[in-house]
Amino acid sequence: MVEGIYEIIDERFRTLFNSSAALDLIHTGCRWAEGPVWFKDGNYLLWSDIPNNRMLRYIPEGGVSVYRADARYSNGNTRDRQGRLVTCEHGARRVTRTEVDGSITVLAYSFEGKRLNSPNDVVVHSNGSVWFSDPTYGIQSDYEGHKATPEQDTNNVYRIDPQTGVVEAVVRDFVQPNGLAFSPDETRLYVADSGSPRHIRVFDVVDGRALSSGRVFCTVDPGVPDGFRFDIEGNLWTSAADGVHCFAPDGTLLGKILTPERVANLTFGGPKGNRLYIAATSSIYAIYVTTNGAAVP
Ligand code: MG
Repeated sequence: MVEGIYEIIDERFRTLFNSSAALDLIHTGCRWAEGPVWFKDGNYLLWSDIPNNRMLRYIPEGGVSVYRADARYSNGNTRDRQGRLVTCEHGARRVTRTEVDGSITVLAYSFEGKRLNSPNDVVVHSNGSVWFSDPTYGIQSDYEGHKATPEQDTNNVYRIDPQTGVVEAVVRDFVQPNGLAFSPDETRLYVADSGSPRHIRVFDVVDGRALSSGRVFCTVDPGVPDGFRFDIEGNLWTSAADGVHCFAPDGTLLGKILTPERVANLTFGGPKGNRLYIAATSSIYAIYVTTNGAAVP
């Protein structure tokens, strides 16, 4: 049942949105908006515009400005437990951390002596380990990075050890690993495969450092699952071609927020974590929902 911009597939979805809440256009003019991350302490949103090779910042009281020009074709962003920005860079084929003083620390650039493909999305565990996906999208052409031949035999999900800095592959059987997120209690890691099939897989997290018991959590259609986030109740909100799809913890599709453009990623933000910021192709949209994002720093 479609009611305005909402598609209700399971009645439980009605508890998660306010039917009078509108989809607000925050900014447009991007080529491919990705990697939205909310800075609660600064009350602003950062995101990547990959083909334009820049990062933008939205301040609700002040509008949109360029945060980082020549962003090395940045893609996914997150924050670590100290609040520092962690970024995947297609162009430099690495994962970096932006320090408080603005300097850049390289966290990962190779695995087994060979260059990474093009890190896509990243999350940080509460133990400080950094987990990221490494599909080939950023080296397939010069549009979202620099065209190159992959050096890795497989497109993996990696974990960076917080003590040693060692990069290890935690999953090696993805086609194109993409968005990833821990369940709110960090007992499970969810990883999207935007290759074929186009689904989100879930793994049990073992001792905060390894994965086991991988299985398919949900399939996303139309489009592909790219980036996604959890709310505090454990519902998974993911990108899709027709909008944002919301899945219950048991994998049931509850409903959708329909958008005018294909969605690549999203994040919860605002002072209360109840504003969903949606990176959708050329634009950033925002909408108030009646739940709150999990683990908003
Ligand atoms: Mg992505």
